[in-house]
Amino acid sequence: MAENCSHDCSSCGENCPSRDAASLKKAPHPMSDIKKVIAVVSGKGGVGKSMTCALLASVCQNKGNVTAIMDADITGPSIPRMLGVNKRAMGSENGILPVVTDGGIQLISMNVLLENESEPVVWRGSLISGTVLQFWTDIIWTGVDYMFVDMPPGTGDVPLTVFQSLPLDGIIIVTTPQDLVGMIVQKAVNMANMMNVPILGIIENMSYVKCPDCGRKIPVFGESRVDATAMEYSIPAVAKIPVDAALTEAADKGKIETFENGYLTEFFDKIVAQLKK
Ligand code: ADP
Repeated sequence: MAENCSHDCSSCGENCPSRDAASLKKAPHPMSDIKKVIAVVSGKGGVGKSMTCALLASVCQNKGNVTAIMDADITGPSIPRMLGVNKRAMGSENGILPVVTDGGIQLISMNVLLENESEPVVWRGSLISGTVLQFWTDIIWTGVDYMFVDMPPGTGDVPLTVFQSLPLDGIIIVTTPQDLVGMIVQKAVNMANMMNVPILGIIENMSYVKCPDCGRKIPVFGESRVDATAMEYSIPAVAKIPVDAALTEAADKGKIETFENGYLTEFFDKIVAQLKK
């Protein structure tokens, strides 16, 4: 242990036995109350991670749980638009409050903090990671049963910061049939093992297109390998979301919360069952 140990490993370069994964965790705002935290990750951008995260949070909220989304995708924040949020976050003397969607989801995102949401965020990685940490430490989250963290794609600075600093209860991986799913899952599994966080489920987005005439599921982007991959890595829950023009429209119109589809209902129940174990 360093001579003048402050017990804050994040501000200390010493490599001593007290530096373990648990010691890097950050405390949330003293007025926050967050029961479970789930990170939604993907190997690359554009696979529909944010859309899936918004959909999953909507299922969660519609089932009567107090739900929150932390949009950690600082440079590409698309969740507010998908949930029809145009408001800006407000501060109180105690801290910053998240915005609340029409359906009641608490949400923080770079877009609800920027004065002009079309402003690009051109920051270095360390500043971005710091902002994500502040989403955890400076925002007052009230009575949250489940918080979903929309992670930036890949395994860069921000995902690492989130893994190290937030008390994650589990991870959900989003892929598409074109992905090198085995490699992406392997990376996520390695990261999850390193941080001692379970992988709760995997979602294959754009899995198929449903023929409007006969209802047959056509695997336009190739045959799905998600079931085999989930089995290989003992991932308990699997969901498949089709390419659905109604979903694109709902996302574009900010109506994901009220989009009735059932794509993730069963999946969500399986996730919750694991968290209750
Ligand atoms: P990511 O977060 O992985 O970069 P997004 O969630 O922002 O990707 O999705 C990219 C775009 O693709 C969005 O416009 C979204 O509405 C659309 N999209 C995602 N999944 C589907 C789907 N299954 N069917 C139709 N459109 C989809």
